[in-house]
Amino acid sequence: MKIALDAGHGREGDPGAINYELGLSEEAVTSVLRELVKEKLGGDFQVFYPDRDLLSSMRGREAHEKGCEVLLSLHLNSGPPGAQGCEIWYRSGNELGKELSLSILNSLSQLPLKIRGAKSDDQWAPAFDHTWKGEIGILREFPGPACLIEVLFISDPQEARLLQNSRFLEGVSSGIVQGLKGFLASSFRFWDVSSPELKEVLNALSGRGVIKGFPDGSFHPEKPLLRGEAALLLKRLLDLVFPV
Ligand SMILES: [Zn+2]
Repeated sequence: MKIALDAGHGREGDPGAINYELGLSEEAVTSVLRELVKEKLGGDFQVFYPDRDLLSSMRGREAHEKGCEVLLSLHLNSGPPGAQGCEIWYRSGNELGKELSLSILNSLSQLPLKIRGAKSDDQWAPAFDHTWKGEIGILREFPGPACLIEVLFISDPQEARLLQNSRFLEGVSSGIVQGLKGFLASSFRFWDVSSPELKEVLNALSGRGVIKGFPDGSFHPEKPLLRGEAALLLKRLLDLVFPV
């Protein structure tokens, strides 16, 4: 599983949103978060960092061309006084992106933060143009499951201080990884199976409890079956055909 981790902004002249009072920029916080998420993903995952010198939408295309299966883009929000909380955006019509967003949001809801919800990017407009209909470029250019996480509002004094707290960022990165793994083990199960026919068979068998796959959602179709596993499969099949 190859994951694209995009630390939002960071191109020359684009630090993202800034909290001038605290001297804190969006690009600085997303850089730290990206490292923490990578560390917590551990060795089972390959991590790809899209090129920060590219425009956001080009980063989505680059991640796809590099063979990434999932993309996470990390951002901080900015808004009018009083605006607080975490929201996650997915591309309109990308059902897996929506499932991914909901799973991560669900994990993050265990932290002491306000949840604004998972939102489709046809509702999105940049602060400078409320009539915008261009959707979110990085999500548009990446065909697989992808989401853009607006962790908190850097414009809010209380939330910006949280973003300076390393323990809080540890919690956010753990929540993101937990939500991602939950998604991989449910909605994105058998992601390492490329044959659509085999995937259909596996989904049918897993729906009946015969096949389970690995906890990270993988199936490893290239691995041989062990005698013990064969016995387990036969037992599950027998239980299904002749329920006690
Ligand atoms: Zn941003």
